[in-house]
Amino acid sequence: MADTKGILFVISGPSGTGKGTICAGLPLGGEAEISVSMTTRQPRRGEKEGKSYYFVNREVFLEMIGSDGFYEYAEVYGEYYGTPKAPVLEKLAAGKDVILEIDTQGAMQIKNSCPDAVLIFILPPSFEELRKRIERRGSESPEKIEQRFGKAKSEIAAISNYEYCVLNKNLDTAIQDVAAIMKAEHSAEIDEKITQRAAALRVSENAEEIARWLSG
Ligand code: 5GP
Repeated sequence: MADTKGILFVISGPSGTGKGTICAGLPLGGEAEISVSMTTRQPRRGEKEGKSYYFVNREVFLEMIGSDGFYEYAEVYGEYYGTPKAPVLEKLAAGKDVILEIDTQGAMQIKNSCPDAVLIFILPPSFEELRKRIERRGSESPEKIEQRFGKAKSEIAAISNYEYCVLNKNLDTAIQDVAAIMKAEHSAEIDEKITQRAAALRVSENAEEIARWLSG
């Protein structure tokens, strides 16, 4: 029997891990949607209002906080980011899955307010590769690059609060991993291969690799 309520998935990982690219590549069909966050940061080249983010000023953001309009929000790199609450609740009630691509502070708020949410952490292949990816994006000043890279370690330290971790070494594999987790979370009766693949991605199954990451 189909689920009546959608599942809330949270995807986090350090800046430059490729979370956005993974989310964009997920075969969602009509069964899941990616939430569009609101932010006070400036749009990057190519970003679209209402698709990448809702870009607002601080005044509007603070008003939204005041009217309890966010499911979660956080200050990240000196700018505000938040998940508008109403669209998420509407989609979940309509039976759709919702994916939040948010930082670890926001993920912890979601875990508290919605214990059924499924938290997935995306790990970059290495710290060196992460730095290269942030630099290659070319949209940040050297100071902001350092800030983002510096935050990566503390973010990775939050991984024990997540249910799953996916290593983004190869984009297609990472997309398939996240898709397998989403499928497996819906039903225990699905294809055994999917269940096994998702189970292998549990944080608890990857303690050694994560420990190596944290000490690296
Ligand atoms: P960026 O500026 O690179 O788009 O995003 C910076 C960080 O903010 C990323 O870690 C991203 O996942 C996070 N982020 C984006 N939207 C939200 C949101 O609505 N809430 C929270 N807490 N973090 C967000």
